[in-house]
Amino acid sequence: MDFDHKKGNNKRLIIIGAGLGGLASAIRMQAAGYDVLLLEKTNQIGGKASVFKINNHIFDAGPTAITVPHLIQELFDLNNENMNDYLELIPIEPYFRIYFHDRSYFNYSTVEENLAQIAKISPDDVQGYKKMMKSIEPIFQKGFLELSDKPFKSFFSMLKIGPPLLKLGAYRSVYSYVSKYIKDEKLRMVFTYHPLLIGGNPFKITSIYMLIQAVEKEWGVWFVKGGTNSLVREFGNLFTRLGGKIILNCEVGEIIVSDKSVVEGVTTTDGKYYESSIIISNAPVATTYMNMIKEKYRKKNSNKRYTNATYGMSVFMIYFGTDCKYPNLYIHNILLGPRYKGLLNDIFNKKQLSEKGDFSAYLYIPTRIDPSLAPREGESCYILVPVPNQDSGIDWHIKKKQFRDHIIGFLEKNYMPGLQKHIKAEKIMTPEDFESLHSDYKGAVFSLAPTFLQSAYFRPHSKSEDIKGLYLVGAGTHPGGGIPGVISSAKLTSNLIL
Ligand SMILES: Cc1cc2nc3c(=O)[nH]c(=O)nc-3n(C[C@H](O)[C@H](O)[C@H](O)COP(=O)(O)OP(=O)(O)OC[C@H]3O[C@@H](n4cnc5c(N)ncnc54)[C@H](O)[C@@H]3O)c2cc1C
Repeated sequence: MDFDHKKGNNKRLIIIGAGLGGLASAIRMQAAGYDVLLLEKTNQIGGKASVFKINNHIFDAGPTAITVPHLIQELFDLNNENMNDYLELIPIEPYFRIYFHDRSYFNYSTVEENLAQIAKISPDDVQGYKKMMKSIEPIFQKGFLELSDKPFKSFFSMLKIGPPLLKLGAYRSVYSYVSKYIKDEKLRMVFTYHPLLIGGNPFKITSIYMLIQAVEKEWGVWFVKGGTNSLVREFGNLFTRLGGKIILNCEVGEIIVSDKSVVEGVTTTDGKYYESSIIISNAPVATTYMNMIKEKYRKKNSNKRYTNATYGMSVFMIYFGTDCKYPNLYIHNILLGPRYKGLLNDIFNKKQLSEKGDFSAYLYIPTRIDPSLAPREGESCYILVPVPNQDSGIDWHIKKKQFRDHIIGFLEKNYMPGLQKHIKAEKIMTPEDFESLHSDYKGAVFSLAPTFLQSAYFRPHSKSEDIKGLYLVGAGTHPGGGIPGVISSAKLTSNLIL
């Protein structure tokens, strides 16, 4: 299908950015009869979920844990297809292994498994955990099942759900919510680290995000054979089977808006013009408004709004392939440092790297269950270390090597003997790299922080309040980051257009 530029064809649509939110919207709109043109800045689709290969080690750049598989099936349904014909989803149990600083660990898993472990560590917390899991059922019902793919069009819509959310304890932080039920400090860490997976501080973000634990309880945690990039590839294939068109290495420079504040099309940084009266931007929301649209058209979405907003943390990533196996480690390992609140305070509030040199991390080793991702006898791994976003002022060109050596040294000493000499492939991504590769404002890879005042109606709207014909999708819009979040946001945005 060629995307012609004739005027008057209102069944055409441009999507800026091929992250998972952009891809899911592209599939939905193409299936609904639109001619969709997907423009992606980089040389591949997937955004945060892109992939790369070094010395036959295959690395997923970002998301690894798949939850809510039926949201994926819903997209295949649009073409009367079964996702199992294209993807092999493997259930993961335990969901995560959480190592404490003393290297003892908790296998975070089903409620029954968790209860058995809690009984050994802190018997007094058994009843509290049961009560907590019961108490989050209505949060899951309201926050996920009812509201995750519904728009908040007016302040009135927020007023309507405000009282029930407050009744559910939405004014509390995740940490405060868990602490009400669980007394043991180690267990409090186990049941509060989830917000970090979407860039939020457990001591700040609203307890509505306890729904993540309910989501895992309901549908489990999955791995896609071949890595998350298989999911991205199949989303791309589904979109092109439906007749959609993707142009890579195509960065949108400006969204062209008429004097009546209506979108007309986009220009790319290499000087091309594509006309369309409907545009969905999957590029980071702050970048979309501040870099692509002249400020005179933006009353609600002013530069002030986005420079003053609170952004989530960033990440320092080391992707590394080894020529030996580490069978004692698991696919999903959370490595907790000696401090919890203090470390998070450094990252989120003081916006600095820990002066004490401690850190917490997520160590991902997909080759523990899918050896096809590395040469024989090797592993492909990444370690994700939460760090402040670019408000920190850290010059990563200077800091990168020292920080990398510190992390690899720590892994070698504590978890992966002889690591340095076994590394045969390596790549580092700093907050600066994410900022330049995917245009993440402030290098905040999870976009705006999921605080109460930046959620639901208060999050940037999926349908622009300022510009007719402009829609947004992805982590910076409702319901927020994570694969289920951005796929739900695509449903919401598409329904608004349709
Ligand atoms: C390291 C890491 C690990 C994660 N792990 C998990 C996990 O295990 N499970 C989970 O559910 N979630 C996880 N997440 C979160 C999840 O990956 C993201 O929330 C989600 O993928 C974001 O999707 P998005 O649709 O918002 O788009 P993005 O992935 O942000 O993609 C936006 C796209 O727009 C493109 N773009 C930007 N500007 C332009 C322009 N001007 N013109 C054209 N294109 C442009 C970018 O290049 C990019 O491809 C993780 C995130 C990271 C960074």
